[in-house]
Amino acid sequence: MDVVEDEVLSLPLRQDSFQAFWESVPATLDCLDPSPGSWFDLMPDSSITVEDLFPDPPAPLDAPPTHAAPTVPTTSDYAGEYGFHIRFQNSGTAKSVTSTYSVSLNKLFCQLAKTCPVEVLVDGAPPPGAILRATAVYKKTEHVADVVRRCPHHLKEDAVEHRSHLIRVEGSQRAQYMEDPNTKRQSVTLPYEAPQLGSGHTTLLLNFMCNSSCMGGMNRRAILTILTLESSEGHVLGRRCFEVRVCACPGRDRKTEEGNVEKKTEGSKPTKKRKSPPTPATAAPPKRVVSASSAEEEDKEVFVLQVVGRKRYEVLKQINDALALQERMKVKQEVQGGPSRGKRRLGDRTDEGTD
Ligand SMILES: [Zn+2]
Repeated sequence: MDVVEDEVLSLPLRQDSFQAFWESVPATLDCLDPSPGSWFDLMPDSSITVEDLFPDPPAPLDAPPTHAAPTVPTTSDYAGEYGFHIRFQNSGTAKSVTSTYSVSLNKLFCQLAKTCPVEVLVDGAPPPGAILRATAVYKKTEHVADVVRRCPHHLKEDAVEHRSHLIRVEGSQRAQYMEDPNTKRQSVTLPYEAPQLGSGHTTLLLNFMCNSSCMGGMNRRAILTILTLESSEGHVLGRRCFEVRVCACPGRDRKTEEGNVEKKTEGSKPTKKRKSPPTPATAAPPKRVVSASSAEEEDKEVFVLQVVGRKRYEVLKQINDALALQERMKVKQEVQGGPSRGKRRLGDRTDEGTD
């Protein structure tokens, strides 16, 4: 026994053992990777990602420019020395709107293949030969390595040469469709044009050629559009980034998503007490607990849990529903297995099958 103990105690002190231990650490961390087939699939809703639960901190406003096409495109805004920025028309959230931009979400909602005007502004004229480039990239880290392309269905329907490109520039013969030979990422470029007399901006007309929900394409994965102002040598002079959702009802979806964010902000105010009935997001689970255990004297107390984010709420609600179900089963078993056990017939069980 003493020998074994000595062996164990000496392990961490030995150089090779520590090394072996250290090398095993990344393998351990791999087990926590929320990729398909891992522990994360055990979660009630496996579409929930770590990012949903722990969103990224906001990116810095100004980052240094990059010069060559990077493997993972930069998505931070960068005004650069020419003060490059973009603006969207105020289209509101009417049902009929085909393209609308949310300032609070920095997100464009648009219908498939419909015109999305983007106003391009600069504080100082960029050098001659400058271009504008639009590139699409997946928003979430676990998808960012994938190249954004159109889905097989829409691809098949189209005959133009650049049919695999999600983003198109409308109304210009000078648009060029490119694919980076290394990263295979697709982009469309247009020569930068100075604003016409009396106007402070130039307008870029973008089309998005697949729905966000397209199977085999974006497949419900959020995308960002990166607009860069580049010199004729390909140096980035400025960059602007916004999220895009291509959907059937842009006005409705914008309204819904903005509403969700408002609720989130309200929910995170710790001292504000609600006088009106709480929203379903916070009220439903406690109510279910009460109805499930109303027979129990001691478990009647209602707790209201404020949850930030719908997905997180859905997870907690599923856990709560499972507990409520368990409770109901327990009550049922107690009724069935009570003092008259064995004497009751099926027909006597009036509570049977009512759940
Ligand atoms: Zn498609």
